[in-house]
Amino acid sequence: MPYLFEPAVLPSLPIAGSEARFPLHRIYCIGRNYASHAREMGAQAVSRANPVFFMKPADGIVPEGGDVPYPSVTHAFHHEVEMVAALAHGGRDIDAAHALDCVFGYGVGLDLTRRDLQAAMKAQGFPWEVAKSFDASAPVSALHAARDVGHPARARLSLEVNGQIRQDSDIADMIFTVPEIIAELSTLFALQPGDLIYTGTPAGVGPMVRGDHFHAELAGIATLDGQIV
Ligand code: MN
Repeated sequence: MPYLFEPAVLPSLPIAGSEARFPLHRIYCIGRNYASHAREMGAQAVSRANPVFFMKPADGIVPEGGDVPYPSVTHAFHHEVEMVAALAHGGRDIDAAHALDCVFGYGVGLDLTRRDLQAAMKAQGFPWEVAKSFDASAPVSALHAARDVGHPARARLSLEVNGQIRQDSDIADMIFTVPEIIAELSTLFALQPGDLIYTGTPAGVGPMVRGDHFHAELAGIATLDGQIV
């Protein structure tokens, strides 16, 4: 049966050192995964029993180096630099002890946020989609295969805007580690090859405006440069 109209092109990401591209399925995100960021948001103490998950649309990615359009409606467009894990295998109820077997590799990305709309949604107890899941809300670097870079448990995670350091931490400060996030997510969703996981941001989130240049880095693993237009 023919489609009524031409289907959208499948979003995909480049893979460092490979001609192949990584086809995207879903983008999962964890919130409040660094105590320093939870504190700056005035959020309650992070509970290991109660992780906060949300999603972005797969076509919300901006592949490496792409221009990021300043989004509509917001007056507080915030950066959140995050390590990104990319899955080549999925499943349900994955044991944390085996979860890293699912990970193809890693990159660095920005979980871009309409912070003013997020605050309004939180205040009303409403969902976060308008704050988190908008077009071009997920810039991300090329992916680096774990066979090349390993499965990092510690690495400097930083973001500069116009050459000024804004966020500077280490992924060792994550509350839920990558295998723990995969284990928790897989109790809620059937994870699949092509899923990306944004693993949370440390302190230092703040606004960007048109013309800003950003440089995100997961030291020794991935970098991401781009600008707000
Ligand atoms: Mn985030």
